[in-house]
Amino acid sequence: MEQIKNYDLEQLKQEMVKIGQKPFRAEQIFKWIYQERVSNFDDMTNLSIELREILKQKYTLNEYKIIKRQEAKDGTKKYLFDILDGNAIETVLMSYHHGNTICVTSQVGCKMGCKFCASTGIPFIRNLTSGEIVEQILAVERDAGVKISNVVFMGIGEPLDNYENVINAIRIINNQKGINIGARHISISTSGLVPQIYRLADENIQCTLSISLHATTNEKRTEMMPINKKYKIEELIKACKDYIAKTNRRVSFEYALAKENNDNLEDAKQLVKLLRGMNCHVNLIPINKIENGKYTKSSNQNIMKFRDYLNDHGIVATIRRELGSDIEAACGQLRRKNLY
Ligand code: SAH
Repeated sequence: MEQIKNYDLEQLKQEMVKIGQKPFRAEQIFKWIYQERVSNFDDMTNLSIELREILKQKYTLNEYKIIKRQEAKDGTKKYLFDILDGNAIETVLMSYHHGNTICVTSQVGCKMGCKFCASTGIPFIRNLTSGEIVEQILAVERDAGVKISNVVFMGIGEPLDNYENVINAIRIINNQKGINIGARHISISTSGLVPQIYRLADENIQCTLSISLHATTNEKRTEMMPINKKYKIEELIKACKDYIAKTNRRVSFEYALAKENNDNLEDAKQLVKLLRGMNCHVNLIPINKIENGKYTKSSNQNIMKFRDYLNDHGIVATIRRELGSDIEAACGQLRRKNLY
């Protein structure tokens, strides 16, 4: 049986036609799932009882179970969800004055092997389906009683390594008849899968692209992020320039500052050289220490110096607020878990 939340509206219309129904049924079903938030087909009362029976036989409308919910001192909530196949994933809810942001997971585990990130500590299991990505939003809204206004694909996994399902999930999240969150409020973060960046530029979705850069030389970046062996910094920057030219959108670069590794002024200088003239923004992240990790956080003073250098040299840079680190909900601290 297929999870009905795996279909975007167009696909669900095709599904309805396949089972001899009119396409507009898909719109009704979408409304029940994403606006009325019903949890079973019997509640879809403007569908005939016969159709509800057919839907029950063909599709599931499963909801995640919460295994654990933790709340940080700053109000950030971390959820451990039972995704109903023996695996568990983490999702984070952050509340800012301008709204609620959810950090969603795209894969059960991650293949990228970045040395500073806890998500790669355990082997990769599988991709999440679109419905499993979308369900994180529904489950968090159900539990926390809030409306989510921003979605960042910065949880466990490499979203562009699960390209189709992530794009499909974005279509559901973005659809006015779906969850209805504007594309500009959705960010995809990538460790730099170059071919997929070119592909994303052609999708005509106005979401924000964030690139996990973290170093300015191939030597250092390869040491931190093995994916850099495959796609070098020059190729990555070229793909970003293409993305900016095609979409007219500003790209965001994430740079996690680790003491005596990538945080001195020489690095800042290189970064200015690399990004000069690009329509971009740099997000500086004080690196979070992970179990057995060799990197430690730069001093606040160094982080501010780094930011000021970038800003003084024409690169807009801000320091990311650290939320949820006391419950291991901060950047790079999420992991998948086994249930059995
Ligand atoms: N795989 C994607 C998305 C997940 S990570 C990517 O690499 O972009 C979200 C952000 O947190 C990325 O920028 C990632 O590099 C960063 N990150 C990972 N581990 C971190 C750590 N220990 N401290 C700070 N940021 C970290």
